[in-house]
Amino acid sequence: MHFESPIKRRKSRQIMVGNVPVGGDAPISVQSMTNTETTDVEATVGQIIGLENAGVDIVRVSVPSMDAAEAFGHIKKRVNVPLIADIHFDHKIALAVAEQGVDCLRINPGNIGREDRVREVVDCARDKGIPIRIGVNAGSLEKELQRKYGEPTPEALVESAMRHIDILDRLNYPDFKLSLKASNVFMTVAAYRLIADQIEQPLHLGVTEAGGFRSGAVKSSVALGMLLMDGIGDTLRVSLAADPIQEVKVGFDILKSLSLRAKGVNFIACPSCSRQNFDVVKTMNELEVRLEDIITPVDVAVIGCVVNGPGEAKSVDIGLTGGTPNNLIYRDGKPSHKVKNDNLVDELERQVREKVAEIDLKAGEAAKITVGMP
Ligand code: SF4
Repeated sequence: MHFESPIKRRKSRQIMVGNVPVGGDAPISVQSMTNTETTDVEATVGQIIGLENAGVDIVRVSVPSMDAAEAFGHIKKRVNVPLIADIHFDHKIALAVAEQGVDCLRINPGNIGREDRVREVVDCARDKGIPIRIGVNAGSLEKELQRKYGEPTPEALVESAMRHIDILDRLNYPDFKLSLKASNVFMTVAAYRLIADQIEQPLHLGVTEAGGFRSGAVKSSVALGMLLMDGIGDTLRVSLAADPIQEVKVGFDILKSLSLRAKGVNFIACPSCSRQNFDVVKTMNELEVRLEDIITPVDVAVIGCVVNGPGEAKSVDIGLTGGTPNNLIYRDGKPSHKVKNDNLVDELERQVREKVAEIDLKAGEAAKITVGMP
């Protein structure tokens, strides 16, 4: 019961970040970044495992020193998700993390300095099959570009990106992805739209320094929503001044809302009003927490009364419509059975888990048929 996204994605060249494909027809990946001290290996590993459990595809880790590069190696051995090392200027750190098995280098070639150092990093990346992420940020535009444009503009961001891209072109290294971030929604969207036609590499979307949990989530959703609707974007990070796990959840919610990626429970719930026959808000809050572990895509409607309940229930896997004296559960769009208010959440949880088991079983059988197993 899933809605097909009408979005036509921009065709980009695929790169591999560890075992995660980025670009081409790969699913749009969701990233986050650790905010622990990288030299604190235990804390950083703990945070990455938390992000893995939340479903993150790729994690970025800051590597500001050689001590952090050494810690990066220990961290890398203890986690499964691909890791990007975030490096500024120091090519020796890039070479060190390459030895430690990094899956992608976030380093701007134009900031490394001498040509021989840039070449050394690119040759090392080529030898080890490590892609590069160029990350242009309105807050750290080159001084000449600030002078030329007077202030950060979409054109200035694109010109900055092209300087880094030209270096990789000269060194014949096409395995990179690019981000062009600003904290302003209009600038971010305009910059990505400008660059999208000029290069074939995958684009990493994000609004930088977007804000706290609520304002950052809204700003990111607006900017990324516009770009994704245009078919632009191969991977994304929602930058929030909040727990990085929230970045992953908001990232997936943005993709889910555009049917670009299905993961976990897709809730449809009414805001409730005095017509509600059960406490919709309380039910939703409890259900969201109880069903957080589910990764199988499943659509669930929780609607307070018959005004919109039966209509919404028709198009979901499991639906609940408020009614008196009983509420009604729907399965696969059809009325199934009645349920009282006092065991509503338990019953809904049970129904959703049963449905997920059924979907998983069918997927397992389909996979067996595909590979010709008995
Ligand atoms: S579906 Fe019913 S309870 Fe929910 S907001 Fe609409 S009228 Fe109110």
